[in-house]
Amino acid sequence: MWARAAALGLAAVLAMAPFSRSLAADAASAQKQDEAYGALIKKHLVDPRFTTELVDHMPASDTVPSPLKFFGRIPGTPGELTYAKDIERYYQELAKTSPRVKFWKLGTTEEGRDLFVIAIADEATLKGLDANKAALAALGDPRKTSQADAQRLIKTAKPLYWITSGIHSPETGGPEMLIELAYRLAVEETPFIREIRNNEIVFITPVVEVDGREKVVDTYYYGKKTGKPKPPLMYWGKYVAHDNNRDGMGQYLKLTQAITAGVLEWRPTVLHDLHEAQSYLYVSTGTGPYNPSLDPVAADEWWLLAETEITEMAKRKVPGVWTYGFYDGWVPNYLFWIANTHNALGRFYEVQSYGPDIQKDLKLGPTVTSREWFRPNPPLPSVDWGPRNNTNIQESAILFALNRVAKDRELYLENYWVKSEHAVEGGRTGAVNAWVIPAEQSARLNVIDMINDLRRQGLEVSTANGGFTAGGVKVAAGDYVIRADQPYRTLADMYFALQNYPAANPRPYDDTGWTMQLMRDVDLKPVKDASVLQQPMTLITADVAPRGAIAGTGSTILVNHTGDNELVSFRFRLKDVKMLAAEGPFEAGGKQYVAGTFIIPNAPRAVVEKAAADLGLKGDAVDALPTVKTHALTIPRIGYLHSWLRTQDEGWWRAALDHYGVPYTYLADTKVRGEDLRKRFDVILYPTVGSSARDQVVGVAMNGDVPIPYKKTALTPNLGALDSADDIRGGLGVDGLAELKKFVEAGGTLIGDGSTVEMLANYGLAAGVSVSAPPELYTRGAIMRGVFSDKQSPILYGYVGKELPIYFSDAPVVTVATGTGGGFGGGGAGSLGSRVAQDVTPNATPIRLSPWTGPEGAPAPAASAAPAEPVETAPPASRTGGAEPTQKPRTVMAFPPQADRILLSGLLNGGQSLSRKALIVDVPDRKGHMVLFALRPFWRWQTQGTYGLAFNAILNWDHLDAGAPPKPEAKKARD
Ligand SMILES: [Zn+2]
Repeated sequence: MWARAAALGLAAVLAMAPFSRSLAADAASAQKQDEAYGALIKKHLVDPRFTTELVDHMPASDTVPSPLKFFGRIPGTPGELTYAKDIERYYQELAKTSPRVKFWKLGTTEEGRDLFVIAIADEATLKGLDANKAALAALGDPRKTSQADAQRLIKTAKPLYWITSGIHSPETGGPEMLIELAYRLAVEETPFIREIRNNEIVFITPVVEVDGREKVVDTYYYGKKTGKPKPPLMYWGKYVAHDNNRDGMGQYLKLTQAITAGVLEWRPTVLHDLHEAQSYLYVSTGTGPYNPSLDPVAADEWWLLAETEITEMAKRKVPGVWTYGFYDGWVPNYLFWIANTHNALGRFYEVQSYGPDIQKDLKLGPTVTSREWFRPNPPLPSVDWGPRNNTNIQESAILFALNRVAKDRELYLENYWVKSEHAVEGGRTGAVNAWVIPAEQSARLNVIDMINDLRRQGLEVSTANGGFTAGGVKVAAGDYVIRADQPYRTLADMYFALQNYPAANPRPYDDTGWTMQLMRDVDLKPVKDASVLQQPMTLITADVAPRGAIAGTGSTILVNHTGDNELVSFRFRLKDVKMLAAEGPFEAGGKQYVAGTFIIPNAPRAVVEKAAADLGLKGDAVDALPTVKTHALTIPRIGYLHSWLRTQDEGWWRAALDHYGVPYTYLADTKVRGEDLRKRFDVILYPTVGSSARDQVVGVAMNGDVPIPYKKTALTPNLGALDSADDIRGGLGVDGLAELKKFVEAGGTLIGDGSTVEMLANYGLAAGVSVSAPPELYTRGAIMRGVFSDKQSPILYGYVGKELPIYFSDAPVVTVATGTGGGFGGGGAGSLGSRVAQDVTPNATPIRLSPWTGPEGAPAPAASAAPAEPVETAPPASRTGGAEPTQKPRTVMAFPPQADRILLSGLLNGGQSLSRKALIVDVPDRKGHMVLFALRPFWRWQTQGTYGLAFNAILNWDHLDAGAPPKPEAKKARD
């Protein structure tokens, strides 16, 4: 070829055949090719520019079935999608027929399907898989491995490149492409592929969200085979949709747990997740700001490897492969960040959608097609696009990446070693040497949950053998100590640091603040004194399993309201046991109890003791009923409303209810019309739909005469696991809204957040409550300070102090009209403060954290909690026409008045627009209540510190007026 090039002139050859037929193809010609397969690749590729010499052919094999042989079609065939269970069968077949492939199960999904992985490498490497695993583990722990041993291992070990895909169910191309990639890696004999096979181990998990994959294939074929509108992909997994890729920190979902367990066991050098949201192929690096806890080596690796794909594809004149300007690199909650938090290299692609239908003349706008420094070879204004384009572009790119890591295997192994070394060394000599979590603090079970969750992510946690002081932090025997001189220190640093996302940065891609101990309301102290590392401590080697107990004798059992989430489990587990809630603090048997304490008169000791023991709760039996005002804790019948429009966010509520054993009836908004809701339910939970208030009412529009079913049928066997309907259209409707109002008026309690709050406010159901969208407000998923406005409300039972860190994104911004003559939440500043029984305890407020540099040099917050502040008031005339309202909303929690005290972690600009705005409002309406959350009580399994607010509202649903001033006479007369 080069002799010919000399004759023709190099430029002419390059123009004629850009980089075609390189090394790969020469050797490929020596291997027997599957001509039929090759012809189909060509046939299905609707634009010839989207190919490379790596993927324009397919070798034949006498022993290993090709995708064409197995499925009767090739990946990239228009109009077809493959179920995960069939991909699994194919991978099992590969493992059976090729000595270069191993298959095993990683776990089981919530709906009972297999999560699986295959390993591909040359035969000898696969046989030595466990030895290589041990080598990678040694490289990952510099405390146990000497420099000399590391140098030897870097030369002999093989890096592990783990490809994951299909976490986002509508992004269908990755799982298809990986069918073909697996076969190619197993059978192709080119030097290029051999280099991969001989020098690294490739793991492939083609479908991470297995439950969602089966549903998307169902809905696609429903549309194709019936010609009717296909049902929306309402559910992916059991709990959430797109947020399955925001579970990296919370780790509630089985898929996240499985991948994390895999990362901890196998120590992949690279974890590469495949997505579809960009034209034509975005390789991750990010605009920054990069997470400041990330080792700079990791960020450099993002670029180093991304440039490989971009350069190689540019050499072949494949348009539209680029990096940088799509994502930031800030929040560590994505699946691929499980690698970044464990010293490995986490990255992703965004590819032009697979389809699987062909899109003729796909037009792209100037924002995607402009030539930029990070996009020198931009996408084109118009192309024909089809699933084979998607297959070719990502299969080619990932082959270049695989080959690069194989070639540079020593470099990537060395980087892994160095990042692990930096982590350990940083703990010895860096700013923070340990983090201490006092064992004795309120909500100690929530603390233990956090400890166990951190341990499951590989973090080592110890307990102090004795008391000591280091760096000014007093540590007691039994306190939890997280040493910073451990390989996964980066994870601890990322989770425990305060985030400061100055508004001058590019727009954040997702949450900007996530500080774990704030979201979980746990006291955690950084220790800046290396002597802490010399203190005697014992490594925890199994989950902490606290055993509860009831002490003393007597017929009345008291269980203090500790703020532990397990208390809600306790109540529902003992649903037949009569319980009371104390409405104020009291003393009994020489002990202090707080408002909200569970009082069990004539307690059936054995069952109560068993529940307490299992749940880790402590109680005391006393002889006499304490003399404190109480109300009954009546077990509510809970209805749980979801919209057919979108179920993404509500799943985090369900996760918490399921986890803590709170039973509910799950029903769609369309089922509310004509229902006597009060007859069926005491409490209705209506989590955010994440739409506008209007869209939430309208739901899936009643458009035309064709019903849109969502149910299990022969054609859609995977739908309808959670809820089903013959027609999902119609939404809540104004008549459904009226039913909700009737439910509340008749004594029910309606609890919601997000768009539900907007809906109830904008449609006038929540009298005296309005929402706004202040133009100057600029924030995104941050942790802010909530100030208790009415500590007497049962919603705050168990919360000590005067403030609580809460998660707030940017809506709803809630204003409460308090009317004239005071009102529950709007009383004078002094009156509220004086009613607060408990003082601030060390763990109650976030303000005892390490020095804070707020956005744009905001001053550090005060060193102690401020007194509760009145909430913003608005004149009442607008809602009553001047008449005195007889029922007033009760503001339970609000933002502080000082704008510079609002933000605790993340991004906030225009904070003055949040000053005094309500965060929790209890709106009475005749006999019932609406409890409106402007904060997100249940967010991504990260906000355990605010779960209790909603649990309290549920437990005290028929006594939410407790602690409120008496109702005006007019109200009584009207009832
Ligand atoms: Zn995605």
